[in-house]
Order: sequence, then C-alpha cells, then structure tokens
Amino acid sequence: MNRKPIFAANWKMNKGPSETEDFVKSFLSKLQGSNFNSEIVIAPPFVSLAKLADLLHTATAVQNAHAIQIAAQNCSQYDAGAYTGEVSVLMLREFFVHYVILGHSERRAIFGETDEIINAKIKKAREANLKPIFCIGETLAEREAGNLESVLRTQITGGLKDISEKDLAEIVIAYEPVWAIGTGVTATSEQAQDAHAFVRSVIAELYGADAAAKIRVQYGGSVKPGNAAELMACPDIDGALIGGAALEPQSFLDIIKNGTPSAE
Ligand code: PEP
Repeated sequence: MNRKPIFAANWKMNKGPSETEDFVKSFLSKLQGSNFNSEIVIAPPFVSLAKLADLLHTATAVQNAHAIQIAAQNCSQYDAGAYTGEVSVLMLREFFVHYVILGHSERRAIFGETDEIINAKIKKAREANLKPIFCIGETLAEREAGNLESVLRTQITGGLKDISEKDLAEIVIAYEPVWAIGTGVTATSEQAQDAHAFVRSVIAELYGADAAAKIRVQYGGSVKPGNAAELMACPDIDGALIGGAALEPQSFLDIIKNGTPSAE
C-alpha cells in the first residue's frame, strides 16, 4: 500500500507571528529545489495562523511553498456562541487550515480532554472538512503495567465512535507514547512498529482491511534528524508529528529529508 508520509510540525505554545515569519522565510529558502514525496504540515499557535497563511500564499516564487499545509493545534467541538477562549472550525477555515491536531496528550492530561470530547471535536472538524490528526498514546505507567494495547484500543474506539469509513479516510492517526514526548527518549523502532501494527489491526477490526491499509499512522515522540530514517523505514510508520525538533527550520527539514525514502 502506497501511503504518502506526512511530517507535521507541532509548535505548541511557541512562535508568535514574527517568529513564524522568520521560520517560514528560512524554511522556504532551504526547501527550494527539493522535491520530497512527503506531505509537509505546520501547526502554529492560533495567533500565527494568519501570518502563516499569508506567507505561504504569497510565496509563489518558491517551489513547494504551496505544498505546505496548515494545521491548527485544536478546535472547539461547538459551532459558535458563549464559549470564551474557544476557536471554531469555521473560523479555522478562513485561514486555509487543512488539518487539526486533536487528542494530543497535553490536551488530554493538562486540559482534561476525554475520548468523548475528542470524538466530538473529530466530528465537528469533519463537518467543516478539516482533516484531524488524531493523537493516541500510552503513559509509561500504562506500558509498564502491560496495558499498552487496551489503552490504545480504548482511545481509538472512543475517539472514532460513529465516525464513518468515508470520514476515516480523511483522518491521520498519530501514535505518540506519552513517555517519549518532549523527553528526548524515543521509542525504539521495534516498539514503535509494534504499536503501529497494533493500531492498524484495531482499525482493521473496526473498518476492514482496506481502510486499515490506507490510513496513515504517524509516529511522534522525540523525533530528530538522527532517528528519523530508522523510524520511518518501519513498514507501518507513515511520517512523524514533531514538537521540539520542528522549532528550527534546518532540523525540521532534515527530519523530512532523512525520513522520506525517495527524497531527492
Ligand atoms: C509532540 O508534541 O507531539 C511531540 C512529539 O513533541 P516532541 O517531538 O518534542 O517529543
């Protein structure tokens, strides 16, 4: 199955509009002339979406600028109204947002997002034709207690409850072991491949073998230029969701370069 790898930069609460401009200008100049067979996505904070959209749409002289997709880091499960601090999916559409990261472990752990809330957000994103990057992953305690598979199964079935096969085709799953996020500890390629194969097997149970073969499953958790090639060579890993190492243009580019099998 030929799945196009997807490399997404999750900047978290870093880079306002002026730092976004510095990054994008540098990244585009480094990207010029490269032809990657991978999708490139940048997820800035909400306040930098307009700047990012503007830079990418005016950078027509730069090859591939148009191929960079914009992601939001979150969205509301509600349409509009008295939800102070929230941002709706229709608002995101105005900034040419294609993807939205949902279910990130920081949203689950710090902001109390449950599988039910994440499921509501995935549905709302799909109503606006946004593509969810649906994050799942176990804590170290859950892994050590032998609960890896049951945790992943619960997150997948809860997050995808009542999601049709047609909508599933527009979703990317990001497997991110919580113990590897921002810690510098990366899952071994064997641990990552085993988890990705398991995720795909759960999708096969829920949606059938064809849907499971088609869905892209990214790995996230301390991906760096030095470990991208080994991780991305695993048969069930289709790109990466990158935090810290995507804050610097050369490092993000090197991850894409090293992790894309047919990079020129
Ligand atoms: C993330 O935040 O999704 C992530 C994987 O972060 P890091 O690459 O810094 O571990």
